[in-house]
Amino acid sequence: MKIVPISLPTPFYIGPVNVYLIAEDPITIIDTGPKTEAAVSALRDGLKRAGFAVADIRRIVLTHAHEDHCGLARALRDEAKDAQVFVHGWETGHRAGRLEHDENLRLLTQAGVPPEEIGGMRRLYESVREYADSLDDDHCSELHDGDDLEFATGILRVLHTPGHTPGSCSFVREADRTVIAGDCLLKRITPNPMLSPDRYLRAIRERQSDVIRLVPKTGATAWEVSRGLFPDTDDVHRFLAVSEAVAHLDQAHSEGKIGLEISDGCEVYRRLSAE
Ligand SMILES: [Zn+2]
Repeated sequence: MKIVPISLPTPFYIGPVNVYLIAEDPITIIDTGPKTEAAVSALRDGLKRAGFAVADIRRIVLTHAHEDHCGLARALRDEAKDAQVFVHGWETGHRAGRLEHDENLRLLTQAGVPPEEIGGMRRLYESVREYADSLDDDHCSELHDGDDLEFATGILRVLHTPGHTPGSCSFVREADRTVIAGDCLLKRITPNPMLSPDRYLRAIRERQSDVIRLVPKTGATAWEVSRGLFPDTDDVHRFLAVSEAVAHLDQAHSEGKIGLEISDGCEVYRRLSAE
């Protein structure tokens, strides 16, 4: 199977993102890059180098619905007439937005994030959404765990790998040990126990120990712990930092390593007295 990676620039801190062209019938791209002039231009160049154009694309398959991976899906589908877009059903709600739901606000408030920070996070993510066109449900076909995407010379199997987002999918070709994993595997980020479990589990345990050390006997919110864990983090990453702190604190609490109580509507974690 001829799989051609095409690197596209993004306006985000993470840097370039890879799109994968499956250069055999039906011509398929996995992920699209963000909706920017620079990304479209780099994608056209990459397709051309491989002997194709956007009009040749028949399938657009999304690992997940983050802007840097799905931003151009609608525009490419419109240009490549009759191209089909595939995404896991659990990305539908996620596509609709990250921070505008009451549930998100409740979670951030519980985590002790100050109201002005929540406002900043919302504005930031609203600006990020400019980098993707929305996709309506009736424009997408659903991927399911275990589905086979058939190609002229073989199949890619859909593996539902939730974590990074609820509907993240990876694509596996066992014949040549190929995995296209989207953001399921990322450098320098801990909560991804996929494919290399020993390495990731050790990193996760170390991070959890750091988090527990930051929980005082007098109690702290997830927001306060996140500020201790990542003191120099900039605006862009405070939402990610508090998300990670909540995940580790909840895990530590479920394992009986720290206490948890509700105080003034916030979840306050406490070091246990025996510690
Ligand atoms: Zn992502």
